[in-house]
Amino acid sequence: METGELNSIPLTHAVSMHTDDQCRCKHSVESYAGKYLKQLINLNLRDAKSEVSEQNIPAVFDFEKYGSLEGYNEYLSSVQKGNWRRQINRAAREGYYCAFFDRSSRVPDIHLVNTSTAVRAQGEMSSHYFKSIEELGGYPTARFDFKAPKCNRHWDIWLGVFQPSEGYRQGDVVVGSRLFAYAHLRRLGDLFIYALFLGHYDYLKDGVMQLLHSYVVESIYKKSFPFLGGDNSPLLVYGGYKHGGIGRETWKRRAGFEPATVLASE
Ligand SMILES: [Zn+2]
Repeated sequence: METGELNSIPLTHAVSMHTDDQCRCKHSVESYAGKYLKQLINLNLRDAKSEVSEQNIPAVFDFEKYGSLEGYNEYLSSVQKGNWRRQINRAAREGYYCAFFDRSSRVPDIHLVNTSTAVRAQGEMSSHYFKSIEELGGYPTARFDFKAPKCNRHWDIWLGVFQPSEGYRQGDVVVGSRLFAYAHLRRLGDLFIYALFLGHYDYLKDGVMQLLHSYVVESIYKKSFPFLGGDNSPLLVYGGYKHGGIGRETWKRRAGFEPATVLASE
């Protein structure tokens, strides 16, 4: 059985953004929260407070809910009678793999993904996705490998779904693989955010988005990198639960998100 609509009482989660840690991120975290998070997340910070309206209740992936990666995989085996899980396996079998990457080395591929369709499940794509390669930062002039963020608790990084492709280039730079989907993932203490989450339209049928999300979930459960570590159970937020129409909402529910109120404090 898949989980249906939740009852009227939404869950509430409290998270710490750890801005009082021994790091220099307090100002940038609070300014990002004040600008971009306050529509989705209830803030209780010295300089920024907010209360989210009903229609902006976020889609929240609660790592504690599934307990462990095994628990999440067990949940996935029940989604679409196991079809979600099979999509992930098929994508992996077809040679797709996930990796963190340096955005500046992949601007042409990001542009290809962004412009792969004018209309998606949630409707017409915003003009933001049709910026030119130059507007996105231009063709790379050298190959930069992914560098781990300076602070393990506060960062924004890019990760993507790739396939090996011999001689494949970005501008004049040989990168040897092609990007098919990406997530711009942000961390603010115990809160992870999909700031962007998008795949090339022609390859969605291959399960690339399912693969990408499962990689994120797995990496966070396993704390695969120092910058994914932490003592508290984190949350992952993917926009408003109701944002983007019924197709997007169904995707989020199957992926393990649910509507919940989030209260973020220092
Ligand atoms: Zn920090």
